[in-house]
Parts: sequence; C-alpha cells; structure tokens
Amino acid sequence: MASASEFQHTVGKIASLSGTSLHTGEKVSLKLHPAPVDHGIKFKRRDLQDEPTIDATIDNLKTVERATTIGEGSVRVHTVEHVLAALSAIAVDNSIVEMDANEPPIGDGSAQPYVDLIKRAEMIVQEEPRRFFDVREPMYVESKTGALLVLLPDEKFRISCTQAGPNNRFTQYLSMEVTAAAFEREIAPARTFVFYEDVQPLMEKNLIKGGSLENAIVVRGEAVLSKEPLRFPDEFVRHKVLDIIGDLALVGRRIRGHVVAAKPGHSANADLARAVAREQTRRSALSVTRAVPRGDSGFDTDEVMQILPHRFPFLMVDRIISFEGETKCIGIKTVTINEPFFQGHFPGHPVMPGVMQVEAMAQVASILLFKLAKTTSRIGYFMSADGVKFRKPVLPGDTIFIHAELTRSRGERLAKAKCHCVVNDAVVSEGELMFTFLDK
Ligand SMILES: [Zn+2]
Repeated sequence: MASASEFQHTVGKIASLSGTSLHTGEKVSLKLHPAPVDHGIKFKRRDLQDEPTIDATIDNLKTVERATTIGEGSVRVHTVEHVLAALSAIAVDNSIVEMDANEPPIGDGSAQPYVDLIKRAEMIVQEEPRRFFDVREPMYVESKTGALLVLLPDEKFRISCTQAGPNNRFTQYLSMEVTAAAFEREIAPARTFVFYEDVQPLMEKNLIKGGSLENAIVVRGEAVLSKEPLRFPDEFVRHKVLDIIGDLALVGRRIRGHVVAAKPGHSANADLARAVAREQTRRSALSVTRAVPRGDSGFDTDEVMQILPHRFPFLMVDRIISFEGETKCIGIKTVTINEPFFQGHFPGHPVMPGVMQVEAMAQVASILLFKLAKTTSRIGYFMSADGVKFRKPVLPGDTIFIHAELTRSRGERLAKAKCHCVVNDAVVSEGELMFTFLDK
C-alpha cells in the first residue's frame, strides 16, 4: 500500500496573510488557493491587468541577489524562497499563491507565518502520486564566492549545511532529514540574518524600505542586533537550510538525496536546482513509453521494408514507432536469441555486436532521410561514424529503442544524423553518422 505521503497534496480552502513587503515597504496580502493535481506552485499577481501567473520553476528564475526572484515576460515576483520553503517542506504540491504586490509579506523574516498559513488552509490529499527526483549519482555545483553544494544519493531528503560569515565568523553546522515535522520545529522559525556591512549601502539607497530589526537579525561586528533574542544558538545555519529548501523547490519534484552544502547562497542553490532540472530533462528524454503504438504515427514492418532494401539477416529495424517533425524518429528492434549473430558472438555468452547497433542506427536514420526526400530511387551509403560509444551490453530479450535525429544535410548528397540506442531507459550505444546518396 502506498502511504498518503506518496500522493500529491493541495490546500482544502483559501487562507490569507497580510503584511509588509521587504524591498518596497508596501502593504501586501497573500492568499493560498487549492489547485488540481500536476499543477505545481504558481504565483498570481492580482494587482496587475489580466492577473498573470508565474510558474515557480527554475526556468523562470530571474535574479538571485540577496533573494530569489522569478518572472515571466515583464512580470516579476521577488523573495519567493520562504513561502516556497514552507510549501515544499510541509509538502503542498499544488497551489496558487495569489498576491496583490510583487513580493510576499516578509513577516518576521522566517517561514513561520507561512507554516501557520498552510495549517489554516488545511492540506488535503489528491489522487495522483507525487513526482520525485531520485539522486542516482553524485552531482555538485561550486561558485566563485566559495559556495559548494554536493548532492548525494539517499533514500530520504537530507541537508547537511555549514554556514560561515565574513572571516569565518559565526561558523555553524547542522545536519538533518527534512520532514514536515522537523522543518516546522527546527527550521521554519529561523529568521533572515544580514551583516551590517552588506545592508548599509542598501539602506542608504533606500532599497530595503520594509527592512527592520523586526524581520531580520543584523550582525554588526560581534554584536547580534534584533528585536527578539536569537531563537536558536545556531539560527543562522538553520536559516541557510530554509533558503536551500526554498530554492530547491523550484525543481518542481521532491528530491530524494542528501544535500551537503558549504557556505551556500541563493546563487549556488539555484545552480544546483538547475543541474537537477537538467538531469531530470535528460532522464525524461530517455524514457520511452513501453506500450509500443501501431498505426499512423509510425511505420509498420511492411512499410519499413518498402523503404529499406535490407533483408534477413540484415534488417535491424522491426518498426518505426514515432516521428517528431521531419528530423526525428524512433525505431525499435526486438533482439531475440534467434538472431544469427548470437551463434558466434559468443557461444555461451550471447552479446549483440556493437557494429550491429550502429547498423540499426544507420537504418533508422535512412528511413528519416528517405521520408524527407520522398523518393526510394536513390540509395543512401553510410560513409562515416563519429563519436561511437558502446556503453552497455545488449542481450537476448532486450528491446532497443533506436533514436535518430538529422542534424545537418548538405545539398542533396550528404546528411548527418545523431543517433542513440536505449534499452531499459539507459543509453547502450550512440554515434554520429554521415551518409551520401547515389542513384540506384
Ligand atoms: Zn532567506
């Protein structure tokens, strides 16, 4: 049985929060609305014409100076990280965050007001499973300012963070598993902190009109200034963890992995979110539906054989399952123990020869070329192959998904295609092939 935590959640009703925005000092009210499955988190600017919405995704990230700003077109929402941290950690997958200004209320500089808001909105479970990003291999980002973030495989979402101020003052360390309960207890109350030398020029330029000792801790020399005493002896590193959670929420999936962060900041956090999103895109591109369609979207065996002159034992494509525009297609080849090459390659240890995979790529690419040229009166000769790599063995019983993309055609006579073969979501071989055409 899947537990409730594996299903998406939204809020059961609208709840609102009012306050002051940090940078402009204006009054702002923020409302959480329910949203359907797979909607994600979107910000809505009610104060603008047509009430535009902005997806809280890494693709919409605009700036990371002191706070995280997202935008689409000319519309911006600033300082989204604290509300996103609360939504992500308390685990609201789908919601519209409606505001009547360009920045959420700063509150006390922590995520506590947002945790309280989510509780008032009463979370409800939805019918679709959550989307996760499972870290499979270590990844890392490093910035010129000395930030280093490493993401390691882990079954849980964990963060181990080292925070260090100027001259390594206020160095603090915290390691935890990020759960809703731990976030609420250990992280949400931790307030924003600033070093006096960093904010003084901003105050002079009047760029933080809403800033005060009520919504930030100011460190001046060794003195810690705030309206309320420190909530934790290590409040600074806790707030750093809060910001990491908020910035990584832009990935749009729940991360199962261990973030090890040294001197993190919004810029490095965003770089890691971007790296995760890129890896996710790469994985999605590899995964092809297991149900192989028949019909108009591709070519059946008969149509393949009308185009390709190859016959047993050299026809290496069973079917074309899809075309994407004129330049991309995917073919399949089901590899059986009856393939003649297994008799000699190798007895007792059948492995599909790499050159046969290259042949399969060439045949799928040829189908693309002939479809484009709309003639079968010429024959394509395979001229060269660059960057050919064989990454994993192909065994009897495997189904190979052969991806081909035309990258260049020079006149009528030459063409290049980027190809790769996929088995069980992993690339088993790849290469760039060049063809020339001759009349039959
Ligand atoms: Zn923050």
